[in-house]
Amino acid sequence: MAEKWSLGRALRGMFVKETIDENTWEDLESALITADFGPDITEEIVDDLREKVARYQTTDPKDLRRMLTESLEERFSKFDSTLMLTERPAVVLVVGVNGVGKTTTIGKFANFLKRYGRSIVVGAADTFRAAAVEQLATWAERGGAAIVRPEREGQDPASVAFQTIEYAQRTGTEIVLIDTAGRLHTKAGLMDELSKVRRVIEKRAPISEVLLVLDATTGQNGVRQAEAFLEHAGVTGLVLTKLDGSAKGGFVLAVQERTGIPVKLLGQGEGIGDLTGFTPHVFAAQLVS
Ligand code: GDP
Ligand code: GDP
Ligand code: MG
Repeated sequence: MAEKWSLGRALRGMFVKETIDENTWEDLESALITADFGPDITEEIVDDLREKVARYQTTDPKDLRRMLTESLEERFSKFDSTLMLTERPAVVLVVGVNGVGKTTTIGKFANFLKRYGRSIVVGAADTFRAAAVEQLATWAERGGAAIVRPEREGQDPASVAFQTIEYAQRTGTEIVLIDTAGRLHTKAGLMDELSKVRRVIEKRAPISEVLLVLDATTGQNGVRQAEAFLEHAGVTGLVLTKLDGSAKGGFVLAVQERTGIPVKLLGQGEGIGDLTGFTPHVFAAQLVS
């Protein structure tokens, strides 16, 4: 795992040195920038650590490493990453632009919840393409979830969502995961469609989570693309995907602080098991190791 994160690699050189010197600070700064923490957070972290190193009068890079880990953990922890899934059924709406990993995440999430003994149904409310429904069906099967499909191609996504909730209520299924479309070329249309999906679901059941999926490899651009969702979709949590390939772990912190919305799940690969919850101390340790 450690090898995947450029921050860990970049820092290794710093921490094998005998003593903290002026180069240490430059190396730290460029490592944080490379890992996508963004200039503001990078400056704050470097200033904070410089101050701590001075205060504790240490020259040992090992102390600096521990302080960095603690500082990251503290900043990651300012947000509550707990998934709210206590309603029955707990309804989770998954939103985001095309290609970020919504459908894949739903399959992985179903599998994740299955391991905790939950029963799951997924709703194929991305009804525009038949292929999207088939892709979700494949993931539902892998994840051990039931699926509610559109009765015909192009069926109103809101009605598929509605029928999925009905299915869950009828069968006592505990968790509902709704897949949605992400084509942004009709942004206003898409936001209207999502509002309607939400409104129609809420006729039958409260929505527990609206998860916005972001592709970590697209960094700040990805957030800009997703701003319409942040504004209109009532997002309660973020899912960051493709962290396996990206080496951009700093984006996790940047995106939380920029949006004010907690990261709740991390996608770290294309396999069914490659999704984890977000645990600040584990993630901070992973980043720095
Ligand atoms: P959607 O359009 O948002 O539903 O995106 P998909 O779920 O169809 O995923 C788009 C592509 O991203 C697929 O090729 C997935 O295999 C890939 N993908 C999704 N999540 C991850 C991840 O965590 N890591 C990697 N490496 N690829 C991912
Ligand atoms: P409107 O289109 O703005 O009038 O929004 P509505 O709240 O009336 O819902 C519109 C769509 O949601 C309908 O066309 C249905 O597809 C779906 N919908 C709403 N209520 C129900 C329902 O009770 N059962 C089913 N199956 N679908 C519903
Ligand atoms: Mg999809």
